[in-house]
Amino acid sequence: MTEPYSPIEEATRKTRPLALVTGASRGIGRAIAVALAEAGYDLFLIARKEAEKLKDTAERCRSLGAVVELRCADISCSKACEDIFAAPDDLLGRLKLLVANAGISKLGLLQDMTPDDWDAMLRTDLSSCFYLSRLAIPRMLHAGGGKLIFISSVWGSRGASCEVAYSAAKGGVNAFTKALAKELAPSNIQVNAIAPGAIDTDMNAWLTEEERAVLEEEIPAGRMGLPEEVAALVCQIAAAPAYLTGNILTLSGGWEI
Ligand code: NAD
Repeated sequence: MTEPYSPIEEATRKTRPLALVTGASRGIGRAIAVALAEAGYDLFLIARKEAEKLKDTAERCRSLGAVVELRCADISCSKACEDIFAAPDDLLGRLKLLVANAGISKLGLLQDMTPDDWDAMLRTDLSSCFYLSRLAIPRMLHAGGGKLIFISSVWGSRGASCEVAYSAAKGGVNAFTKALAKELAPSNIQVNAIAPGAIDTDMNAWLTEEERAVLEEEIPAGRMGLPEEVAALVCQIAAAPAYLTGNILTLSGGWEI
């Protein structure tokens, strides 16, 4: 069935801001996409694989009124990021927000890590922020401003045993955020990062029940965080005054203190 054409609705859609969210097939990225759809954004959603799950996120966002474009792409590859940004101007011309959320983690001793593992971690969790930012910034400059939000981790400042490469990548994201915020502040582009503690997603599905209980005991809030809580903070940063830039906002239930 074709919906009746509404010129007013069409005009509204063309003026809605667009957010590009990576890692949107599940977990934190999916929650961010849904929250931004609720907040009135159209969306360009990316995940590496999991096309069905990505479609499911897209359907949920469409049910909230968002126009949604989706793409399976490997953001650890600069060429794949360039292909994402080859999308039509009537879409990316409205880019107001980049949420670089996609990431991987890997447990193990540093001495057992291969150089290929190291490169894959650094490219996925850190270089992707560069690949995507360098393409998003010219669009935002052209539009008079925008916001970049990177999903870092508490390990980026604290460092985690058996997650050295992940900690190094997220520490890099923190420094990247601060430096880029200074560079872009005069151009009305704000750059912030969120450093979550332990969030209840597939990334932590390897924890046994006992390990999870021990972890929750360590967290002053007494529980793991929810993807929706990270998503709520993304929406708040997206709506925050332009003077909020260069911050690494910790969201850890008091774990990081
Ligand atoms: P997740 O494993 O549940 O989901 C990861 C998402 O990233 C998936 O959509 C996957 O397709 C996408 N992705 C991974 N590699 C990709 C690639 N090369 N190209 C494109 N997409 C790719 O993870 P999550 O828990 O939702 O984590 C999301 C972000 O939050 C990550 O950056 C992670 O480091 C960070 N983080 C998570 C936690 C936590 O406890 N879950 C804590 C701190 C930070």
